[in-house]
Amino acid sequence: MSNTNTHTKVLIIGSGPAGYTAAIYAARANLNPILVTGYEPGGQLMITTEVENYPGFAEKIEGPWLVDQMRAQAENVGTEMISDYIVDVDTTQRPFKATGQSGEVYTGDTLIIATGAKARWLGIESEQTFQGRGVSACATCDGFFFKNQEVAIVGGGNSAVEEALFLTNFCSKVTLIHRRDSLRAEKIMQDRLFASDKVSVIWDHEVDEILGDDTGVTGLRLKSTKDDSTQNIDVQGFFVAIGHDPATELFKGKLDMDESGYLITAADSTKTSIDGIYGAGDVADHTYRQAITAAGMGCMAALEAEKHLSSKA
Ligand code: FAD
Ligand code: NAP
Repeated sequence: MSNTNTHTKVLIIGSGPAGYTAAIYAARANLNPILVTGYEPGGQLMITTEVENYPGFAEKIEGPWLVDQMRAQAENVGTEMISDYIVDVDTTQRPFKATGQSGEVYTGDTLIIATGAKARWLGIESEQTFQGRGVSACATCDGFFFKNQEVAIVGGGNSAVEEALFLTNFCSKVTLIHRRDSLRAEKIMQDRLFASDKVSVIWDHEVDEILGDDTGVTGLRLKSTKDDSTQNIDVQGFFVAIGHDPATELFKGKLDMDESGYLITAADSTKTSIDGIYGAGDVADHTYRQAITAAGMGCMAALEAEKHLSSKA
């Protein structure tokens, strides 16, 4: 790829619901946005199955279909989509500068950060050892490989419960392991989980070690969070669904963040600590982290960018 600058009034980093929605609004305001997609075009919804809570659809829809519609809509109204991954950002000068993995440099009079969040891992060594050989952070992607096998999943949020239920489509038994004695998943999700005869829950335990051999995962050693006692369970697959970390590495020391790394934005706004830079979606949302809230924040960011640009015109 050539090393020429690519300039726009609105540069958007990230192609989840936040980025696509920002692009739709910016394009319809004639701001000719450029959107850099990153390694995961479509974002987190690409790894989910049914979406039941995005308004506008009376029947269940598939996550990948939903974001594909968003992408097409953003393109149809005039967004330039660029397949690249931003590796460096200069927020000290204007226009703001973002360098892609390709070597291309993109400049924007305003910058909308919609880089979302990434799967969190437990951080135990055996997790790395068996990654791709029985350990996964994406049941939707890898569940099929464990057809008629016994698997376990760790976590107590919506992701863990949704993925546990998804795994019941393939697996003979699904054990959900949670470190406390109650789930934080929505009540309706919990009801479905407890109603499944393929699911059992082990409360008050953490995964201490993933056990395995040359064939891959064979079991887990679990440790009680109450009394340090341990127990082993036999499984062939292990899924990690303990949440996500905001993708803000690029902006460390450049933009204000909270203690968990989420971008700090002004109240009722997507404005970050630098005028003209906006944070939208999961990257700036510790609380809700939903497709609809991400899309809403994308809309807000584009409207705020537009207002900023007209105030400078
Ligand atoms: P993301 O969707 O995380 O997208 C981030 C984008 O940024 C990606 O395209 C990535 O490629 C890009 N990116 C990151 N770093 C860079 C970089 N350096 N350069 C360029 N691009 C970059 N929500 C619901 O409302 N309903 C559901 O049913 C639902 N199901 C879910 C199921 C699962 C398994 C998960 C994990 C989440 C689910 N959610 C659901 C939450 C929802 O997916 C997220 O809230 C939403 O996707 C956040 O959108 P986003 O645009 O902020 O970021
Ligand atoms: P989450 O809500 O942050 O839940 C993470 C879970 O993992 C918590 O139960 C937490 O335990 C546990 N956990 C964290 N670190 C752990 C560790 N080191 N060891 C063991 N357990 C650990 O994350 P999420 O479930 O991925 O959901 C993220 C967002 O996406 C949420 O806003 C959620 O509502 C949304 N989402 C929505 C849907 C849907 O609407 N259908 C589906 C999926 C996700 P504690 O409970 O003890 O903290």
